[in-house]
Amino acid sequence: MNVKLIGVTPNPELLPAMAAKLTHSKTKPEDLDKSSEKELKATLEQVMKLGHTSVVEHTSFTFAISDVSRSLTHQLVRHRIASYSQQSQRYVNLNDPCYIIPPKIEKNKTMKQAYEETMHTIWEQYNKLLSMDIPAEDARYVLPNATCTNIIVTMNARSLLNFFDLRCCLHAQWEIRSLANRMLQEVKVVAPTIFKHAGPSCKRKGICPENKKDCPLYPK
Ligand SMILES: Cc1cc2nc3c(=O)[nH]c(=O)nc-3n(C[C@H](O)[C@H](O)[C@H](O)COP(=O)(O)OP(=O)(O)OC[C@H]3O[C@@H](n4cnc5c(N)ncnc54)[C@H](O)[C@@H]3O)c2cc1C
Repeated sequence: MNVKLIGVTPNPELLPAMAAKLTHSKTKPEDLDKSSEKELKATLEQVMKLGHTSVVEHTSFTFAISDVSRSLTHQLVRHRIASYSQQSQRYVNLNDPCYIIPPKIEKNKTMKQAYEETMHTIWEQYNKLLSMDIPAEDARYVLPNATCTNIIVTMNARSLLNFFDLRCCLHAQWEIRSLANRMLQEVKVVAPTIFKHAGPSCKRKGICPENKKDCPLYPK
């Protein structure tokens, strides 16, 4: 899996901080940039603590994600407050086998062999269909959830906080959890105030939506 932050609103904490200040003061919008950086940061921190996270919608992040499975991207695109561009299986012929192997299969030699054989049989059939002039948009029906794909996603910071709540959870599926943790690492560097408490819902909100009392992170 490759995850790269390829776009960020310039000075990503400034607009949310100005928006936060606007909501908590008589300052006119056009004068907000006269406030000191320290004051703006403090206001943003305070508003984040109160959970008024709509102010962070003013800042967005774009990630390039490659070598992940279609299984992952199917879960990712369920997050509706986002924009996506994904490699097409209609316009791109995926002639060479490219698939993700789940770690639990990877570490078992017999299972891995059976898995790889299955993948190669699938790709043989896929290529056979293409060679019989079946268009890629139809041939792709035989491809598995494991198929590699590439996607670009843009989310605003509020949507990202929700994404991390749900997908950094230890009960989220391993591949999307790994993606969420990688994205969180990236945004923490460029927007540390916004993402200071980001992570699974139990960490940020003290709530376990899964109600898994045996989870090591279950809120005390
Ligand atoms: C561990 C786990 C297991 C899951 N299992 C399943 C499953 O078995 N089957 C399945 O179908 N999905 C499953 N999902 C997907 C889940 O139901 C959500 O679709 C997905 O996590 C996107 O979350 P979201 O709706 O909060 O995000 P977004 O779509 O980005 O929405 C963000 C927020 O905006 C609001 N919102 C967005 N659209 C609407 C709307 N139309 N109406 C009202 N409010 C809206 C909601 O408050 C929502 O939380 C699972 C998710 C997780 C984390």
